Amino acid sequence: MSAVVIDGKAIARSIREEIAREVEQLKQEGIHPGLAVVLVGQDPASHSYVKGKVKGCEEVGIYSEVVCLEESVSQAELHETIEQIKKKTNIHGILVQLPLPPHISEEAVLDLIPAEKDVDGFHPENVGKMVIGKESLLPCTPHGIVKLIQTTGTDLNGKHVVVIGRSNIVGKPVSLLLLQENATVTLCHSRTRNLADLTRQADILVVAVGKPHLIGKEHVSPGTIVIDVGVNRLENGKLVGDVRFDEVAEVASYITPVPGGVGPMTITMLLANTVKAAKAQTRKGD
Ligand code: NAD
Repeated sequence: MSAVVIDGKAIARSIREEIAREVEQLKQEGIHPGLAVVLVGQDPASHSYVKGKVKGCEEVGIYSEVVCLEESVSQAELHETIEQIKKKTNIHGILVQLPLPPHISEEAVLDLIPAEKDVDGFHPENVGKMVIGKESLLPCTPHGIVKLIQTTGTDLNGKHVVVIGRSNIVGKPVSLLLLQENATVTLCHSRTRNLADLTRQADILVVAVGKPHLIGKEHVSPGTIVIDVGVNRLENGKLVGDVRFDEVAEVASYITPVPGGVGPMTITMLLANTVKAAKAQTRKGD
């Protein structure tokens, strides 16, 4: 293997240490950042993600609470729960764990969360601000990906980044954030023709599809930085990314593993957003 493995766990740990120091400082000023998570239903993956978020909060000293609701909850009941949380002065960040059951409109729920408490960075106001490059709460996974790329010491100016996947939570926002860093961005998706011709032109390749082993060495030119966002569970229980790690690591300059790459950064950026939201709301005198 010639690629350097980007150790997302270690990078996340060091950012969390910084966040913990900041939280400690804020507490001395009488500000205790707080996060509320709304969890609907029994989906094991969602429960496991929420557990990770609560653990992350504990690690850095952020107050957290989880509101669990039955799968059968109505749209109105869910809205009422969020309205109640919005009134709590000790809560600066609110997130609703996705996906929600099919009978619930996710869009209506996300619109309810005030932009200043939208620590997932999904509210249209925060998305709009990100598009025009204005200060906002950034979506966690894309923000974490940019941070990981920056730890390689690469200057993004003029670099050709190819992103595969155009979802609202990863592909689209990470493309915008990298554009903001002056990269030249090509955004590929399921209808893109001749994918390998495009990906072979990349200095940096970000793969966010959700298909195990989709990307192999035929897609990657020597020296490319490869960020694998995919999280796929195989039938044997093993967790893998979208990239065939062993063969791509032979040609890439840097590569993220799955698990232990992008994943740990996502929660870390959520913690950073909660602290940022707490500071912004307290300064406004809320
Ligand atoms: P999504 O299903 O919403 O989007 C997938 C995208 O891949 C779509 O835009 C689609 O056009 C594209 N696509 C599908 N097949 C393709 C193909 N053959 N060639 C090119 N493009 C193709 O998924 P998502 O929510 O963006 O998540 C993507 C992956 O990232 C999933 O595995 C998810 O679990 C993972 N993820 C990880 C984290 C993390 O913190 N590590 C966070 C979010 C998502």
